[in-house]
Amino acid sequence: MLTLIKNADIYSPEPLGIGHLLLGGGKVLHVGRQLPELDASLLGDTLDLEGAPLIPGLIDCHVHVTGGGGEDGFSTQAPAVPLSQFTRHGITSVVGLLGTDDETRSTANLLARVRALREEGLSAWCWTGGYHVPPTTLTGSVRRDIVNIDCIIGLGELAISDHRSSQPSFDELARLASEVHVAGLISRKAGVLHLHLGDGPRGLELVRRLLDETELPPRVFHPTHVNRTKELFAEACALSLENVVVDVTAFPVAAGENAWSAADAWSRFLEQGCPAENLTISSDGGGCLPVFDHNGHLVKMDFATSASLPETLRELLERGYSLDQVLPSMTSNVARLLKLENKGRIETGADADFVCLGEALDVRHVMARGQWMVQDQVAVVQGLFEE
Ligand SMILES: [Zn+2]
Repeated sequence: MLTLIKNADIYSPEPLGIGHLLLGGGKVLHVGRQLPELDASLLGDTLDLEGAPLIPGLIDCHVHVTGGGGEDGFSTQAPAVPLSQFTRHGITSVVGLLGTDDETRSTANLLARVRALREEGLSAWCWTGGYHVPPTTLTGSVRRDIVNIDCIIGLGELAISDHRSSQPSFDELARLASEVHVAGLISRKAGVLHLHLGDGPRGLELVRRLLDETELPPRVFHPTHVNRTKELFAEACALSLENVVVDVTAFPVAAGENAWSAADAWSRFLEQGCPAENLTISSDGGGCLPVFDHNGHLVKMDFATSASLPETLRELLERGYSLDQVLPSMTSNVARLLKLENKGRIETGADADFVCLGEALDVRHVMARGQWMVQDQVAVVQGLFEE
């Protein structure tokens, strides 16, 4: 059966105005201002949005789907993130990863969690590896993982400029980036090295050297957490002018902290004339947000969720930016860099992944691959072990 969504204020992310969508088989079959003529026997659900905004499902490209953490003993390992923790916040696509703990957490476990989310109706992929070098993999090789395992699109989050990193050398990083790049070419995948940046003073120095001293193209490097210090963000803005897509993390920032919130980073990026298509925003959902003192001792533990993406969207809209300005950083920019086909846009042939926003710019209805996951803010589909 076909589904009709009527009178939606469509942002593809470009503003298309009020229009109608016909959906079938998990895909968008038609988008337009004219209602399609249909035999009534073909039509299932009809939803009239009465002019409410309809946006592409959000893509969160940095999520600890297995649960992250574990940076202050085993009891600090976070649990796996259940389905509705994504859908309730408008996330219809995720890219999972391992972080500090790539020892008790494995690539096999990560893949299983990605496949579980797929079975439950979400779209999901993952990065192979974790913080460390040599990277944790399934097959023993980064290149082999990316080429041969469908869900794996690149390597991440490999840590640099951080006390928890392997302190990788220039040569080690160049070798891994080349493996990722070539694997991407062979398999027609993103082939992206998603780099965790710590707050060390070396910042993005290694990435600049890789661009200067190797033949690797800028699109291979996707540094994340670049808003964690103001100095690092300035470096990231400069790299974006050399066509590196940089990723901002929507973590909480305290007043007076030497960091930019995701909303501040997004607006500064634009005001400085950096290319809007070279910015993405992710949540670090499922991960713990540890705060260390100068000796590397944990002093505090926060917990991140994907809710920070729609919160950042709402914050920027309240500051007066428009949906078509803000959305690409959470939808089409991510899909383009990561080569997530049929994702991040509302157009004919795309996957039926949408968020309908309520009057308070809240996430009201969510559809993933043609299935309603959230209706009137209630998760109508849940993971097997959710309450
Ligand atoms: Zn990280």
